[in-house]
Amino acid sequence: MEEDPYRSARERMVEEQLRGRDIHDPRVLAAMRAVPRHRFVPEDLSSQAYADGPVRLEHGQTISQPYIVALMSQLLELKGEETVLEIGTGSGYQAAVLSRLAHQVYSLERVPELASTAAQRLKELGCENVAVYERDGSAGLPEHAPYPAIIVAAAAPRVPAPLMEQLEIGGRLVVPVGSQEGQTLELWRRKSEADFSQDRIAPVAFVPLLGEHGWSTDERPFWAW
Ligand code: SAH
Repeated sequence: MEEDPYRSARERMVEEQLRGRDIHDPRVLAAMRAVPRHRFVPEDLSSQAYADGPVRLEHGQTISQPYIVALMSQLLELKGEETVLEIGTGSGYQAAVLSRLAHQVYSLERVPELASTAAQRLKELGCENVAVYERDGSAGLPEHAPYPAIIVAAAAPRVPAPLMEQLEIGGRLVVPVGSQEGQTLELWRRKSEADFSQDRIAPVAFVPLLGEHGWSTDERPFWAW
């Protein structure tokens, strides 16, 4: 195994940014400790990889702040046997974290270059239980539905109806809802076929979920992140 020069930076990230706040799920902490976040940012930005904030990258893509990745993962309450649907692969970092928490991860990305780079990177890192699809994730992935856990890494104007439909009974959906002006991270739980509960967790700032059940691509020029 190659030497990891970022091991201590990662350990500090876990202690100060995660454990020092309200991340207590031991499996989430272990996953965040294990995934080499610096491999998901361009080499010239590796020094920022473990800072307490998001990293802005090409194609309007952002890797969320480590705390937000951990918080969203923790809210899913994964035990290890689940199939998870992720919308917005971006760099693939969140998918790599989820790959250590669940049995299978399906991750959807609308920008072809991002989807192929992330898929390649995840393969190199041995995340064999992650499958990346290039498609509009606002419509979900009906072919493997229903899912016990769905996570959306881009802000939707409202929870996309197909994702509600593809959530298993008893399942959990974590999604930022709102516009450029303000968003709330929401946790939805499906209690029965037609009964959902909603919790508002925290104010957040994500790039827009574009697509059929997201923001219209026509609005993109007004929301250029
Ligand atoms: N989870 C990512 C960060 C996601 S940034 C990481 O860990 O790096 C949000 C991503 O959502 C961007 O890559 C953007 O292209 C993608 N996206 C936006 N709308 C989408 C849609 N309808 N379907 C799939 N991906 C979408």
